[in-house]
Amino acid sequence: IAQCLVGSEMCIRDRYMDKKVYDIIIIGAGTAGLSSAIYGRRAGKNVLVLEGKSYGGQIIVSPEVENYPGIKHTSGFEFATRLFEQAKSLDTEILMDEAVNIEVDGSYKKVITKGSEFISKAVIIASGVGRRKLHVENEDRFTGAGVSYCATCDGMFYKGMDIIVAGGGNTALEDAKYLSEICKTVYLVHRRDTFRAEASLIKEVEAKDNIKILLKHNVISLSGGDVLESVKIADTVNGKVSDIEVQGLFVAVGQEPQRDVYENVVKTDENGYIVAGEDCRTNVEGIYAAGDCRTKEVRQLITAAADGAVAAVMACKKM
Ligand code: NAP
Repeated sequence: IAQCLVGSEMCIRDRYMDKKVYDIIIIGAGTAGLSSAIYGRRAGKNVLVLEGKSYGGQIIVSPEVENYPGIKHTSGFEFATRLFEQAKSLDTEILMDEAVNIEVDGSYKKVITKGSEFISKAVIIASGVGRRKLHVENEDRFTGAGVSYCATCDGMFYKGMDIIVAGGGNTALEDAKYLSEICKTVYLVHRRDTFRAEASLIKEVEAKDNIKILLKHNVISLSGGDVLESVKIADTVNGKVSDIEVQGLFVAVGQEPQRDVYENVVKTDENGYIVAGEDCRTNVEGIYAAGDCRTKEVRQLITAAADGAVAAVMACKKM
C-alpha cells in the first residue's frame, strides 16, 4: 500500500476521508453571510452557516430600511427574516453555534466552535461588527442594568424615564430620535462641537423638545446601586464635571469588528478589519472576508450583500 508523504496534500486529504467536509463554511448569519449562503447553494455547494447569536446581523435592529435598491421601505427585522428564509429554502444548513477559531490544514479548513468542530474546503468570514464600548468606569457593571447598546431592542424598558444617548453619528442621532418618542428626556452627549450625522437627521433631532443636546462633553463614569442612577459628564473645554440623574445610557459611539475568531489566522489592519479587496480574498488561500469585517470604504446593507455574493462566487471558482 502506497504511503502518503507526511505533510503532502494527498496525506492531508486522507485524514479527512471519513469525515464530513463542507464545500463552504460561512461564519455569521448577517446580510453578507446569508447572501453568501444563497449564492453557494445555488451553485450546488454544500454550505454550513455558523452563527453565535441570532440571524440577521446589525440590520435586524434597524427600524427602517429605505436604501436597499428595489425595496422602497421595509424594517430591518423583515429584511433579515426574508433573507434567512431564502437561505433556508435552499436547504442551507444553519447552526446556532459560535465559531471561536479557524485552523488551516493544507487546502482544508477546520472551524472550531463553542460546541464542536467542522471541516470545509473554503471559509467565508462574515462576522460583521459590534457596537464599540465607551470604556468608562462601571460601564460593564451596569450593562443590562441601565447601559444598552441597542435602542430598538431595549428602548421600551425606559418608557417615561430620563436617559442619555452618547455619540454623534447617524446611529446616535437615530437612537435619540427613536427614544424621544418613548422616554421623558433624552440627553444627547457628544464629545465634539458638531455632529457627524446627516444634516436632515440633525435637523429632526434639534426640533425635538425633549432632546437636550450637550456638545463638547464626555461621559466619564457611571454610578448607582443595583441599577444605573447617575452619569458623570465632563466639559471637554473647561473640564467641569457634572452629574445627570438618568436611568439609562444608550451607547452609540461607532462600531468595531468582531475579530476574536479570525485575528490569529488572517491578516488584519490596525483596527482589526480583515485585509481583503473587492474580490474578498484574504492572505490565506481558501479564506474569504465578506461584509463589514473587511477593509472597505462603504459599509452599507447593499455592500454587505454584494460582498456575500462575490465571496461565494470566488470560493466556488476554486472548487
Ligand atoms: P460613526 O459614524 O463612526 O460615529 C461614531 C460617533 O461616536 C462619532 O460621533 C464619534 O465621535 C463618537 N465616538 C467614537 N468613539 C467615542 C468615544 N470613545 N467616546 C465618545 N464618543 C465617541 O458610527 P455610527 O453612528 O454607529 O455609524 C456607523 C456607520 O453606519 C456610518 O457609516 C453611518 O453613516 C452608518 N449608519 C447609517 C445610517 C443610515 O443611513 N440611516 C444609520 C446608522 C448608521 P467623533 O465624531 O468625534 O469621531
